[in-house]
Amino acid sequence: SKWVYSFSKEKTEGNKDMKNLLGGKGANLAEMSSLGLPVPPGFTVTTEACIDYQKTKSFNDDIKKQVEEALKLVESSTGKTFGGGDNPLLFSVRSGARVSMPGMMDTVLNLGLNDETVEALSKKSDNERFAWDSYRRFIQMYANVVMGMSHSLLESTLEDLKEAKGVDSDTKLDAKDFKNLVKVYKQIIAQETGKKFPTDPMEQLWLAIEAVFGSWDNPRAIKYRQLNGIPGDWGTAVNVQAMVFGNMGDDCATGVCFTRDPSNGEKKFFGEYLVNAQGEDVVAGIRTPAPINECSKNDSNRSEKTLEEYMPKAFAELTDLYQQLEKHYKDMQDIEFTIEANKLYLLQTRNGKRTAAAALKIAVNLEEEGIVTKEEALMQIDPEALNQLLHPRLDPDATKNIIAKGLPASPGAGAGKIVFHSDDATSMHENGVKVILVRQETSPEDIAGMAAAQAILTARGGMTSHAAVVARGMGKPCVAGCSEILVDSKNRTMIVGDKKYVEGDFITLDGGTGEVIEGEVPTLDAEINADFAKFMAWADEIRTLRVRTNADNPEDSETAVKFGAEGIGLCRTEHMFFEPERILAVREMIFADSTSHREKALKKLLPYQKEDFKGIFKALDGKPVNIRLLDPPLHEFLPHELEDKKELAEYIDVELKTIEEGCERLHEFNPMLGHRGCRLGITYPEIYTMQVTAITQAALESIDEGVDVRPEIMIPLVATAKELSILREILVATIEQVRGDKEFNYKLGTMIELPRAAITAADIATHADFFSFGTNDLTQTTFGLSRDDAGRFLTEYISKSVLPSDPFVSLDQEGVGYLVKFATEQGRNANKEIHVGICGEHGGEPKSIDFCHRIGLDYVSCSPYRVPIARLAAAQAVI
Ligand code: PEP
Ligand code: MG
Repeated sequence: SKWVYSFSKEKTEGNKDMKNLLGGKGANLAEMSSLGLPVPPGFTVTTEACIDYQKTKSFNDDIKKQVEEALKLVESSTGKTFGGGDNPLLFSVRSGARVSMPGMMDTVLNLGLNDETVEALSKKSDNERFAWDSYRRFIQMYANVVMGMSHSLLESTLEDLKEAKGVDSDTKLDAKDFKNLVKVYKQIIAQETGKKFPTDPMEQLWLAIEAVFGSWDNPRAIKYRQLNGIPGDWGTAVNVQAMVFGNMGDDCATGVCFTRDPSNGEKKFFGEYLVNAQGEDVVAGIRTPAPINECSKNDSNRSEKTLEEYMPKAFAELTDLYQQLEKHYKDMQDIEFTIEANKLYLLQTRNGKRTAAAALKIAVNLEEEGIVTKEEALMQIDPEALNQLLHPRLDPDATKNIIAKGLPASPGAGAGKIVFHSDDATSMHENGVKVILVRQETSPEDIAGMAAAQAILTARGGMTSHAAVVARGMGKPCVAGCSEILVDSKNRTMIVGDKKYVEGDFITLDGGTGEVIEGEVPTLDAEINADFAKFMAWADEIRTLRVRTNADNPEDSETAVKFGAEGIGLCRTEHMFFEPERILAVREMIFADSTSHREKALKKLLPYQKEDFKGIFKALDGKPVNIRLLDPPLHEFLPHELEDKKELAEYIDVELKTIEEGCERLHEFNPMLGHRGCRLGITYPEIYTMQVTAITQAALESIDEGVDVRPEIMIPLVATAKELSILREILVATIEQVRGDKEFNYKLGTMIELPRAAITAADIATHADFFSFGTNDLTQTTFGLSRDDAGRFLTEYISKSVLPSDPFVSLDQEGVGYLVKFATEQGRNANKEIHVGICGEHGGEPKSIDFCHRIGLDYVSCSPYRVPIARLAAAQAVI
């Protein structure tokens, strides 16, 4: 089989659609090569080769042969030779998975250098300093990535040298310095690893490929995959590509650019570059790069020349190429380039990571510019990413003491206690403490700490630094390159001006402006802008599935309506019972020893319930409101603390002992399968009749006040048609009595959340105006998996691939989904009028929403903040 794919102007074997096999980077290098763009030639060793390697920990003969053949092609394409001759070919060896995992895996540059080739390179380039700088860089990277030495050992040797010479930058070191450095490096490596640095370029290459394959399973890559739901069995490809040099002199440069602004999506060419440097210098945030053009300047005081001023010809070419690439890929591109002796090369292009706000603006603009259709625009945004748009921002009225300003690397506001180490961020977060991770610069090792922090602050690095890219991907606020702060992570302090901040001090970051603020500033919820409205209107135009919300109070209902909810799909009335002045009456009702006593207690609750319902009817004016009658087992309402028990005893005038015995008696071994849901309605009909009375009275009063009410009364946990028919009869009679001669329209239906209900849906449907699938309980009862206890072992189930994902998050389509589909069909066959929705948590999860669309449900219902996500997911389900 084929393990290696070449790309060059003479021969290219892959294309952009082969990401699974070639990785994102490899597929796009092939695509750019075939478009005739200036890409240095090379080859990609496939992800399948990675998986094959992982199994046997060796390369099979085919892989070896194919690499050697592909290498010859690169030699003939460049006219250089690998490992010798007077024009030596050097390689970069880079990882490249299906989806980009910025900085998580390893890279080796300048591979192929040894004591001979470095001399040849020096002669050929007529630049001794460059040749030896490349050599020492190569040794540094190789020692770290391939030989497993810590990065800091060689790095600190370099720092010592700079200090001894009294210079602050690598660019001030000369050829002699680097020659010495190479010697010292080799000694240190021999001491530390007990091995000689390999001189045979072919050996260097194989070991580097091996190391990149191995880096797929390094801890930070594993962590990144966990955070981003990337399967462990994808593997990474390896791209071996002829080196071009951005560090050969002052007519060389390297940089990263975005075809639009990745922070806010504005249509402006945006990027950063470094003169006389290699690509890693930009990405690693080691030197703070300069803006490529005027509009990339965040700070108009910056004095460095832009690329446009410094190398106008190369800049013009780059401008032309970025426009071509954006049209070709129909999306915002993130491009890495290198300029060698004034000649521009493209090293990578990919759809750029962006904030959700930027993604939205870009999608809307691309449609307006005629580059994509509405449908394509809708498909560009991951519904989950909309979460970010609903991010908090700083309260503009709050006073804020701005202590420093950095680059606005990722928007949103976050406040918390300063921590200086990733581990501390993680452990404090686990203890419920909000933290801000403050670092000199972040590295991929910080990934877990970044995920745990509210926001991230770095002293060094630009808008394309690791911290910036990763934070944007996570939707975390980030201020980067804040040079006014001095971070001393060893002593856990940060100095700004003449003030010292220590670990545990509060700060607030505004990732949209780059402000660092002392103390904890209050934040406001996100606002919806015009782009959002336009985009969501497209989604609404296309989707056929309706979107409701789960809400049980007027405020949440209003929020949901603002986010586009078309009704309430689930109002859990028990949530209304927990408020302090009501819980006593609820408890009195539970402890009542006769129906009349129970009714007396229930009467106290009725006015509260009525007012709740009126508030919700008003918020939903004209839209359906689905109210579920009491569902949880009664013991959930019982007092636990002695204080509360005493208070209750006094309130209902019984002995404490009576309360304690009552609590004992109500204990259930398996309350989720116990006395709950409609079983309460059957045994204590007065509870349900009180609730239905409150609903009817609230509706009648609201109608009088001019509100358009559309109540749906829902009975939970039905297992048999008989349960529903009995309750229906009782409740209809109550409604008839309460409404008197007033007109009152309502629907009465049931939840389907038990397998028996799904199986006998045809019978149940004859007593129901609607079904609403309670997939939380349906998942629990279908799997026989407690929704409250499963967390303890489910993660292991998922990591061992026993289950593809948590079935309480993403609907198990084969099992639970099958029941939903079956019950929908049966229900509709038996009752043509029946209306069908879902109100379990799955109603807000994109994959489950796609399923609900495919099986033809009428609506999904989800929490208010997920309503926009559901609207978009429902549109994508159609496309
Ligand atoms: C369900 O079971 O899916 C449901 C919506 O009800 P609850 O989560 O309140 O049990
Ligand atoms: Mg339920």
